Amino acid sequence: MAKYVRSGNVGLVGILLVSALALVSGALSGVAFHLAGRYFYIVGIFPLLWGLLVGAGTAYGVRQGKCRSALIGAAAGLVAGASSYGLFQVLGNLHHRELVRAAWSGKASSDQDLDRWYDEGLSKSFGGTGFWAQLSLRAQAGISLRSHGSSGNGKSPTLTGIGVFLYWLAELAVVAGIALALPMAAAKEPFCEPCEAWYEKKDLIGIRRASLEEARSRLAAGDYSGLAACFTPDRQDGILSLEKCSRGCNGQVRVKLTAIVRDKRGKTVSRKTAFEDMVTPELAETLQRAAAGPGAPPPGGIGGAVPPFAT
Ligand SMILES: [Zn+2]
Repeated sequence: MAKYVRSGNVGLVGILLVSALALVSGALSGVAFHLAGRYFYIVGIFPLLWGLLVGAGTAYGVRQGKCRSALIGAAAGLVAGASSYGLFQVLGNLHHRELVRAAWSGKASSDQDLDRWYDEGLSKSFGGTGFWAQLSLRAQAGISLRSHGSSGNGKSPTLTGIGVFLYWLAELAVVAGIALALPMAAAKEPFCEPCEAWYEKKDLIGIRRASLEEARSRLAAGDYSGLAACFTPDRQDGILSLEKCSRGCNGQVRVKLTAIVRDKRGKTVSRKTAFEDMVTPELAETLQRAAAGPGAPPPGGIGGAVPPFAT
């Protein structure tokens, strides 16, 4: 019994691809969420979506760049998520300055005057005119958690001061955390070193909830013939799957048993790997035949392709 062991390898091209996709997806999402935030902003949902976008972009770089280093995947995701959120705040600062200038425009003779007033106000209250001073000004003005993108719209703020900073910090953690997790997971996927190709996953069959433990111990013992009693076409509670080299070489195959926990309404709560093992292609073939059932056509035959309403 052996688990898949990652080489941790990544080439220069891989590092460049991961970095490029991380930065591009970070920059694009930072701009997109700023622009969307000028009109509406859904607290809780937007940061999740944002982390998923940056994470998916970086994970795509991991796949394309054949990056098996979880550390590099995670670092790229973290930097991309954090800089995306930083860019969002820089754009927020610029936008806030524009709004203040627009509000004051009748009272000054020139734009230079407006900028001077703005900077003088910042220096006086926050000891500087840079990023942190502008952020502090916006925090002092407060945000409405109903739509915090458009400050200065007359709504009474939900949070002000330190509360705003804590809220921003929480958002940063969500965005950067998800952006880190996705590429890290992608880099841990099995990879065929001789072929330089990722493995492909194929679900074989469902496993009954009551039989999950039995299936696990039979798999561990290599007793594939007795497994059939655990099989069910329904893939609600457990899935038996194979992962093999996408180039179809004769390398080892990963057998995986995934246990699925659902709530009362049938929504997936969690998916947990109950068992995994690297086996020879011959053993994988035996398993595949067992899952296809007695008298079933060989894998790749017409068996799986019958339309549901065929007569
Ligand atoms: Zn291979």
